[in-house]
Amino acid sequence: MDHPENAEEYKGLQVNAGVDQPEQVNPYYRRKKRRQLTVSDYVEGILKGDITMLSQAVTLVESVLPEHHAVAQEVIEKCLPHTGQSVRIGISGVPGAGKSTSIDVFGLHVLKEYGGKLAVLAIDPSSERTKGSILGDKTRMEKLAVHPDAFIRPSPSAGSLGGVARKTRETIVLCEAAGFDKIFVETVGVGQSETACHSMVDFFLLIQLAGTGDELQGIKRGIMEMADGIIINKCDGDNIHAAQLAATHFRNALHLFPAPESGWTPRVLTYSGYYDIGIKEIWDMVYEYIAFVRENGYFQYRRNEQAKYWMYETINQALHDEFYHNPAIAAAIEQKERQVLGGELTSFTAASQLLAMRGKK
Ligand code: GDP
Repeated sequence: MDHPENAEEYKGLQVNAGVDQPEQVNPYYRRKKRRQLTVSDYVEGILKGDITMLSQAVTLVESVLPEHHAVAQEVIEKCLPHTGQSVRIGISGVPGAGKSTSIDVFGLHVLKEYGGKLAVLAIDPSSERTKGSILGDKTRMEKLAVHPDAFIRPSPSAGSLGGVARKTRETIVLCEAAGFDKIFVETVGVGQSETACHSMVDFFLLIQLAGTGDELQGIKRGIMEMADGIIINKCDGDNIHAAQLAATHFRNALHLFPAPESGWTPRVLTYSGYYDIGIKEIWDMVYEYIAFVRENGYFQYRRNEQAKYWMYETINQALHDEFYHNPAIAAAIEQKERQVLGGELTSFTAASQLLAMRGKK
């Protein structure tokens, strides 16, 4: 699948397709059999903050093999009591908005000012791991990638958005158990990924650019309503005036929305990720918000709502998979579709006949 950032509307940016890697470079190489790690090996390692163990556990979470899935779920269960202490920030923006440049400086800023440890995760349903996945890629965040207190993990490549998002949410649990108290979730600003990201963070930061017409796009797609803060990047050089003008437009547009449940009024700030201008103001805002919602109870309320959302989301996904992967249903569904199109069956009869086949193998 071509990457969405290669769509015509995003100019000046090309995501390469990547190359298939040979299976084995050295034909004489024999992989040494490693001792199979147990659930407690993983949990102990993670709780000690062992990054290698954390990475291996994340790989299990991302695996499509059922036996890995079972171990991963047990590890997550055992890590759960050690989680929840972090601040989770979603960072979104259209391709070219400057997400990676910004996350690099944001990360360095929060680690310097607030200490602790930072994990950068990503939700990008279109990424294919071996073929040049782009979000959460270490080469895009040069300084953070070598920071001893930062852990960067590219987006899992799991096909459906639901699958990718669930894995990212589970990875948050593991990272928190490993002592990461700041989590960034980067998401590509096209399509539904933002909604998924919003459903797992405490603060949703939307990066925008001046004069791209995205102001309207954001409104149309309901993205602006989700934002707790809108930040206009590239407020530098010849672009300062345009960025400030865009900020005014966004401020006006925000008035069109009903007041958010949190009681917080979303703010619009300008900055330059590239020239490191206005970064402190952004993070002062984020931490002011966190203090504000901790005080009024919304912080915990939002987390509870998210936990509920993910429970139902997981059920829905499982029911969906069970239905469509049922061989009897898979064999009959096309014929039913033809009968509906041919006027032989109504959509509802066809659906109930298919639904009635659920118990069959
Ligand atoms: P992403 O696709 O959202 O991750 O965007 P990138 O971080 O890759 O940035 C896209 C382009 O914008 C790159 O060429 C950056 O050098 C440039 N860029 C990023 N931030 C700024 C900024 O603050 N000012 C200016 N002038 N350019 C920037």
